[in-house]
Amino acid sequence: MTTTAARAFRAGYVRLARSGELEERARKLDALLADCRVCPRECRVDRRLELGDCGTGAAAVVASWGPHHGEEPVISGSRGSGTVFLANCNLRCVFCQNHDISQRPGAFGGRAVGDEELAAIYLELQDRGCHNLNWVSPSHQVPQLVRALVVAARRGLAIPIVYNSNGYDSVEVLELLEGIVDIWMPDLKYADPAAGRRLSGVDDYPQRARAAIAEMHRQIGGAWELGPEGELRRGLLLRMLVLPNGLAGTEASLEWLATTLSPTVAVSLLAQYRPAHRVPQVPELADLDRPISRDEWRQAVAALERHMRGERHQVQAVWG
Ligand code: SF4
Repeated sequence: MTTTAARAFRAGYVRLARSGELEERARKLDALLADCRVCPRECRVDRRLELGDCGTGAAAVVASWGPHHGEEPVISGSRGSGTVFLANCNLRCVFCQNHDISQRPGAFGGRAVGDEELAAIYLELQDRGCHNLNWVSPSHQVPQLVRALVVAARRGLAIPIVYNSNGYDSVEVLELLEGIVDIWMPDLKYADPAAGRRLSGVDDYPQRARAAIAEMHRQIGGAWELGPEGELRRGLLLRMLVLPNGLAGTEASLEWLATTLSPTVAVSLLAQYRPAHRVPQVPELADLDRPISRDEWRQAVAALERHMRGERHQVQAVWG
């Protein structure tokens, strides 16, 4: 079955599949697994034989999939976003809400799936009417995801792909995704490297995430292409979760975004932070052990209004 929505729109990878370029990109991405530099950690392990910091081998590891109605309205639309939650992660965020699937290498809640099975999942989500195929936490599994995309595109997959990442992405990998990904939706978690080191376990988060976001912006610009229901079909949407005590550096990140890329880049500002995972147990993380205050939220919204302009911002105050 192919939905009306899918027939009406052809994602970028459909053209690349027809020309043979998609298969060539999959081959180049797959080659990175042999001496892994799929993400900025650059573990340099052969993932067909051993595991790097993400604890993920040469097969995709999927935790769950299905239509999701809780993303931003332009992503979920009326029929849901076709989320594929990838297990494990290349970051170690101490406050991760999904730590049961993201930070349990060797004992995660997901299972390894081959290219054929993953392609069938993609097609199932399209057939269920989802507006898009939403790769959640893809940064460490891009070669596997694209291998399956080659199979699914041959069988009629045509909905746009959402690259829904933590922002800690390799620019080399993103260059190989040009024309494959239609919707870039990265996080920008911190402005201060010390916060990235203490809270997510990497020394260079702001530097790497800013380079990745600049590459996404280079590929797709700030303009949006929308479908008939107002759903996003092509564009960039940057997510920024506001943390207590200014730990996300929201104002500094917005200033960088406005001055280095563009003040019109769409930002999804999120108020939904809740203490989770290691935060309630570790005394050294007491500065994260509460939701943000209304005053902190007001300051973040004021910073957004001060630095950015345009009509695309998705300000999500979720209290209680
Ligand atoms: S994808 Fe995994 S193995 Fe490869 S560099 Fe990143 S953390 Fe290391």
